[in-house]
Order: sequence, then C-alpha cells, then structure tokens
Amino acid sequence: MWDSGTRSPIIPPMQPRKPTRQVTLGDDRVGFVRIGGGKPDASGNPTEPAPVVCQTMTAGYTHDVDACVAEINKLAAAGADVVRVAVPERKDTEALKEIIPQVSVPIVADVHFHFKRALEAVESGVHKIRLNPGNISDRAQVNEVIDACKEKGLPIRVGVNEGSIIERRDKQKRKEELGKYFAGHAQGHLLALMIAKLEEYLDIFRERDFHDVCISAKSMDAAFVTDVYREISERFDYPLHLGVTHAGPKETGCIRSIAALSGLLTAGIGDTIRISYANDPIYEVEDGLELLYSLGLRERTGIDLIACPTCGRIQVDLFTLVQDVRSALASEIRVPMKVAVMGCIVNGPGEAEGADVAIFAGDRRGIIYVQGERVANVPEEEILERLLEECRSFQTKVESGEAELGQKVVEIVPPDPIGELGSGFDKIARGDVEKVTGVTVGETG
Ligand code: SF4
Repeated sequence: MWDSGTRSPIIPPMQPRKPTRQVTLGDDRVGFVRIGGGKPDASGNPTEPAPVVCQTMTAGYTHDVDACVAEINKLAAAGADVVRVAVPERKDTEALKEIIPQVSVPIVADVHFHFKRALEAVESGVHKIRLNPGNISDRAQVNEVIDACKEKGLPIRVGVNEGSIIERRDKQKRKEELGKYFAGHAQGHLLALMIAKLEEYLDIFRERDFHDVCISAKSMDAAFVTDVYREISERFDYPLHLGVTHAGPKETGCIRSIAALSGLLTAGIGDTIRISYANDPIYEVEDGLELLYSLGLRERTGIDLIACPTCGRIQVDLFTLVQDVRSALASEIRVPMKVAVMGCIVNGPGEAEGADVAIFAGDRRGIIYVQGERVANVPEEEILERLLEECRSFQTKVESGEAELGQKVVEIVPPDPIGELGSGFDKIARGDVEKVTGVTVGETG
C-alpha cells in the first residue's frame, strides 16, 4: 500500500553520500570545482561533500582553437562544471595555452598512449589530467606525470575502461591476463581484472604519496558499471567519476546511463558524472544535470519544464510547443521556475499543480496562468510568444523580490469534460465559463 509519507518499497531510500577524499581543480579566473569530500584533507581538516559535479567532453578537435573555445563555452553555458578535451597530439597540448585563458570552466586533458601529452598539458595550464592505466603503464612515466601534477597542485583521474583493460602490446602479459581472468568467460573475471589493474596503478600514486586522485571504471554494460563501482567504492576512498562508456546514441544511451548512474547515486556512490552519447555533448550536460536535479542531488538553477504526453483530447501541436518553449528558455531562465505545458483542461490543472506558469491548450487556443491567476487566452499561433513573455516577466518579478517561486499552486477547477459542458474548452475559451465547481474529472493523463 502506497504511503505518501514514505518512498515506494521497491525504490531504496536515498543513502547519504559515501565520504571520500576531496579533490579541487580550477584557478582564480575560472573558479574552483570540488569533487567528493567528507573525509579530512591532507592537513587533517574536515571537508564537506561537494555537490555532485556534472562534466562532459568536447567532440571537436582541440587544436582548432576557436572552435574548441566556442564548444567549451557553449557547454559551460549549458551548465557543465568541468569540460574534458582530447590531446592526442602535441598541437593539441600547445593549443591549450590559447584555449584555457578564453574559457570559463576548469579543463581536463584526456591523455592516452603517450605520457608526454600529460606533461605538456600541465605546462600549458590545464587543471586536471586523466590517465588510462590500460595504455600508460610504465612506472617511471607515470611518476613523471605525478611529479608534474604535484608541483602544480593538479589532480589526476585514473580511468580504466573495459575496452582498454586487457593488455594488447605485451603479448606475454596479455596471455597471462586472459588465462587468469577469462578462462571461464564470466563477467566477474573482468571485474576482478579491473580492480587488480586499479590496485596496481594506484600503488604507484600511493608510493609517491600522491592522493589527489579520482577514479573511474567504465563499461558499456550498465549492470557491470553498477557492480564495479559498488566494489570500488568499498575498496577506495578516492572520489568516483561515474559513467557508462560508449553508451550509444542519445535515445538509448540515455536509458543505459540512467539505469546505472541513478542506482549508484541513490546508494550514495559517485562524486562526478559524465553521461556519454554519440551526439552533441550539450545533451550530455542537459541530461546529466536533469538526473542530478531529479535525484535531489543538485539545486535546479533553471526552468523545470513539465508537459503532458498528449492523448486523443489534444487540439494543438503540443510537441512543437514544448520543444519551442524548451529551446527558447533553457538558457534564459535563471531561476528554478516550474512551467507546465498541458494539452487540455481535463487533467491539465491537476498535472500542473504547483507550476508557477502554466498553459492549458485546446480548441486551437491556450489559456495561460501565472501562479494560479489567469493572465491570457490566446489563439494557437500566439501561444508560444505569450507564454515566453509571461515566463520572462515572472522571472523579472522573482529576481526583484516581487514574486516568490512555488508560493501559489495552480488552483483551477476544470469544467465537466463530458457532462453539460461537453468538452468545456470552447466555453472556457469564449469566457462563458470561468469556473465550475463540484465536478468529477476523468483520469486519463
Ligand atoms: S488528458 Fe492529459 S494527456 Fe490528454 S491532452 Fe489532456 S492533459 Fe494532455
């Protein structure tokens, strides 16, 4: 039996964040981003767990300076706290010298195969390095990177990936690993190999007394990601960077990522996330933030758009309207304003309850309410502009202190949808009916 005072028994209650060491990246110009926390810092001072950080990675070439700067700043404007860039060549690490002074968030250099790219990136002023134990494993080389980062106070992410975990260059080592971990082809062996590689790699850092470390262990299998991070979280106290790698196109990658990440975050595991899609990384930021907002792990900073799925009652092009509202207001609204876009007045009022601005469409018209007060009744072609105008004007009032968010719920009594009033909307639209009380409204939405 559902009890409104508790969560559903099938959803485990949100666990407190697991305490970790904390790493900080950034500089005076771009600001500082903290990842993890709850354990004492190097001087023994307690640290507060930082809000879960949302990061992404650019899709373009880093050496194309202007395009890279534009992409980073676009991602930052969408809410990315940290942006990672690939530095496969010397020209990429060189480009960082020009890129970093022009961007507004900390930058991470993603290094594979050649440790010199890490040293060059540090010299170019990058804020954090990502190393892959699967392709940079020489102890002396890793030590050089550690020393360079230590000198500049930069953290390092140790990121193992399912795709690069098995040794490929050293034939003897590869044979041994396959024999030891994959004789039975069980997925559990892969997990054991990942943990073993991490342990071995992190020993290099511990021996160097370097603890400014984040860890990731990614796979394209959501269930495996869940298992491996649970295991890592038991074994290490470094902050964890969560992600499902190569998750695929946005449409399915979204589900795959959320399946893994929401379970881990609910269990208190994870300090920073990257959703990865074969698509524009702007979607990674939008969806990553939405996940954190939805789980209550971050305070929403922009529009909270709700919309009905539509049904046979719909009489306007609601899908287009919703997308237009979203694209127009996603970066413009700076306060957590709840906006409801509802297809009709049958279930719309109930579904929009609590919205600051709401529209109920139907009969090729739309009625707009601001905190329960009806402010407009316009034909379909004017809905978008009027709705945007009302949202902008409401934001101005909130920012000036004239209005407060979420203070008044939408209190609209809809007309009887099947009784005396018929669909009801035409009469509401004409202004014949303002309010009809004592009716029962069907449940279809
Ligand atoms: S009944 Fe619900 S789903 Fe159907 S159009 Fe109305 S608000 Fe949308």
